[in-house]
Amino acid sequence: MSELLIRQFPCLSDNYGFLIHDPDSGETATIDTPDADVILAQAEAAGWTITQIWNTHHHFDHAGGNETIQALTGAKIVGPRYDTHRIPGISVEVENGDVISLGRHKAKVIYTPGHTMGHVCYHLPMDGIAFVGDTLFALGCGRLFEGTPADMWYSLSRLAALPDETRVYCAHEYTEANARFALSIDPDNRDLQVYAAMVEGERARGEPTVPTTIGAEKAANPFLRPDDPAIRARLDMATADDVDVFAEIRRRKDMF
Ligand code: ZN
Ligand code: FE
Repeated sequence: MSELLIRQFPCLSDNYGFLIHDPDSGETATIDTPDADVILAQAEAAGWTITQIWNTHHHFDHAGGNETIQALTGAKIVGPRYDTHRIPGISVEVENGDVISLGRHKAKVIYTPGHTMGHVCYHLPMDGIAFVGDTLFALGCGRLFEGTPADMWYSLSRLAALPDETRVYCAHEYTEANARFALSIDPDNRDLQVYAAMVEGERARGEPTVPTTIGAEKAANPFLRPDDPAIRARLDMATADDVDVFAEIRRRKDMF
């Protein structure tokens, strides 16, 4: 089985577009559709024809290009069953534990409510990669537009349980701002300091900070570390539940 080819490119103001291509079957999927024109041009530049759209959630910067791409390519649209009514053109409805395929490459659907109540992530265990939409960001996590802190903490915990070396493709380039906030919550974390310095260099050179890895996020991302004694001490929440510490970190980020 050939390795998947991944093409990553900026879309809109701070989204990333991702195309994955299986050389054996010739199939190509776009993860979400932030900008149909850009995605179609990227596919053409690579010599790939889009056969599938995998949506993480219904927001316009993730599903807004569905209909244009489907009209021009005939691609089938995979998306969360919960959001059938608000994902344009959906043809394959998936829920937690379902497995979808790109050629012989398998992606497992992980239900990750919180940012929206339908949000799903796609984990390709054999390829060691995950597309996490607006659930987990490098040094951050998605805003809670629809779910509760408990929903989001459940979702992040499931992503944190993936293998450390899993490469994580987040849908936005938010890392520099996330790093500033993370350092305000966990200033003495050496892994975070090193990570933040690396991000600063990458952004100064105009490079993406995505993908990250589960291991790097577990070490430095405060949203995955509500059990950390130093963070708890700073928040004066030594004996609180993880979900309450998580909620407080999210609350502070919303005001930061
Ligand atoms: Zn979103
Ligand atoms: Fe988004």
